[in-house]
Amino acid sequence: MKSIAVIGAGIFGLTSAFQLKQKGYQVDLYEESNRSGGVIQSVYKDGYLSELGPNTLLNTNIKLINLIKALGLEPHLCPARDVGEARFLVRGGKMIQMPSKPLAFFSSSLFSWNAKFNLILEMLRPKWKNEYEETIAHFVRRRFGKEFLTYAIDALVAGIFAGDPERLSVPHGFPKLYRAEQKYGSLLRAQILGARERKRKGETSKQEARVLSFDRGLQTLTDAISAKLGDNLHCQAKLQKIRYQNSLWEICYSEKGELKKKEYEVVLVAIPAYELEKLEFEHPSGLSLKLFGEINYSPVASVILGYKEEDVRNTTKGFGMLIPGIEHFNILGTLFSSSLFEGRAPSGYITLSTYVGGLRQPNLARLPSEELTKMVHEDLCKLLYIQGNPVFKYTYYHERAIPQYEIGYGKFKDHIANLQHTCPGFYIGGNCVKGPALSDNIIFAHEMADNIAAYLEDTSVSAK
Ligand SMILES: Cc1cc2nc3c(=O)[nH]c(=O)nc-3n(C[C@H](O)[C@H](O)[C@H](O)COP(=O)(O)OP(=O)(O)OC[C@H]3O[C@@H](n4cnc5c(N)ncnc54)[C@H](O)[C@@H]3O)c2cc1C
Repeated sequence: MKSIAVIGAGIFGLTSAFQLKQKGYQVDLYEESNRSGGVIQSVYKDGYLSELGPNTLLNTNIKLINLIKALGLEPHLCPARDVGEARFLVRGGKMIQMPSKPLAFFSSSLFSWNAKFNLILEMLRPKWKNEYEETIAHFVRRRFGKEFLTYAIDALVAGIFAGDPERLSVPHGFPKLYRAEQKYGSLLRAQILGARERKRKGETSKQEARVLSFDRGLQTLTDAISAKLGDNLHCQAKLQKIRYQNSLWEICYSEKGELKKKEYEVVLVAIPAYELEKLEFEHPSGLSLKLFGEINYSPVASVILGYKEEDVRNTTKGFGMLIPGIEHFNILGTLFSSSLFEGRAPSGYITLSTYVGGLRQPNLARLPSEELTKMVHEDLCKLLYIQGNPVFKYTYYHERAIPQYEIGYGKFKDHIANLQHTCPGFYIGGNCVKGPALSDNIIFAHEMADNIAAYLEDTSVSAK
C-alpha cells in the first residue's frame, strides 16, 4: 500500500490526512506538540467556553458540510444565531452597525456622503493595468476612496490578518478581490454577476456564508478528525529532516525524545513557515526550505472576558465590533461570543473575545496577562459602557499568529511550486499557501488529497 507522511496536525494536516486515509492510503500524521488542532483550541472552564485561536468557520463550500457529516458531527453543529448578522464598526469612539444591504449603506451614519458617492463611482473606475503589485490599501483608495480604507478596510484587515493594509498584497492576500476586478472590471459588478458563477460551483461568498462552530467549540472538529485517524496520529513527534533517496522520502523525527526514521512515497508538510525553515532538506536538486523563514507573522493575544449581563449597558447583540486604527483604542476588535453562539457563558452572563496586537500594536500582545486583561477591560468599558469588573478571565498569546501575505509574497509561492515540480512526492500545505481562513484551508486540504492521489496513481501506472 502507498504510504504518505503528513506533518503538522493543524486543520490543514488533519483534513488532508483524513481525506487520504478515506481514499485507502496508509497515512501517518506527525505532530510536534502533545495535542492536535494547531491554533484551534477550545477551553471549557467555569461555565465559559473560550476559543484561544479562531472562533468562526465560514460555510463557503459543500466540502465543509460533507466533512462534518463524514465525521458524524452534524448534531454538534452550532450555527451562529441570526443576531450575528449585525456587525459593528467603531467611529468617533462609538459602535455603529455596519450596513449589510446596499440601501442601508446609503442611510448609514458610518460613512460620509462623499464616501457613499465614491462607492457608486466604483462601477465606472478602470481596472488595474499597472505592472507593479498593489497593496490592499492602494487598491481600496483607488477604487473606493480614502475614507473606506480608514474606517472599513483597516479594521477588516486587522480582523482577518492582524496585519497592515499598507503591506498586504492584493493578488496574494486577497486573490478573490484581485480576480474579481480583473474579470468584471469592478467589485460591485463582480458581486452581482459573480453570484451566478458561485451557485454553479456550489460555493457561497464569504459575506453570505453561514457562520459555524460546534456546541463545544471549534476543537470539536479537530478532535473528531484526530479520533478517526486513531493510531495514525503521532503526537510529540517533531519532524527534523526530510531526505530523498532511492525514489523514497525518508523522514527523521524525534518522538518523545527518541530519534526515529521512516520512508514514504509522499511527504506533505503543513507546519508554519518559520518551522519549515528549520527543517533539513536533502534532495539532489540542492533546493532548500530556508527562504520560508522570511515570511512575516503578526503576534496576537486572545483575551476572553466574562461579565454579568446587567453590567454591560451597550448592546452586544451581534457578531462583534472591529476598530479602525485611527480610533486609537488598544484593542483590534471584539467578538460578542455568547450572543453569536449558544452555550458560551452561564445564564445571566456574557462572554466577549477580544484580539490585541497584530502589526498595528505588536507590543501590546506581549503584555503580561494581568496588564492585558486590565487594558482590554478599560477599552470595553468605554465602548460597551460596562459598569462592573469581569467575573471570568482567560488570556492566550500567539507569538506568530497569522502569516502576512505582503508585497513580494509571490516569491514564496513560486518556491513552493518549484519544490513541488522539482521534487515529485514532496508537497507543502497549510495557511502560508492559500490564506489563513479555516474554510479555505479545509477546501485546499481536499484539493491536496486529490492531487496526491492523482500523483500516486500516475507513479503506479508508470511503474508497471
Ligand atoms: C488568534 C487567531 C484567530 C483566528 N481566527 C480565525 C477565525 O475566526 N476564522 C478563520 O477562518 N480563521 C481564523 N484564524 C486562522 C486559522 O485559524 C489558521 O490559519 C489555521 O487554523 C491554520 O491551520 P494550519 O493547519 O495551517 O496550521 P496550525 O494550526 O498552525 O498547525 C500547524 C501544526 O504544525 C505543528 N508543527 C510545527 N512544527 C512541526 C514539526 N517540525 N513537526 C511536527 N509538527 C510541527 C504545530 O505544532 C501545529 O500543531 C485565526 C488564527 C489565529 C491565530
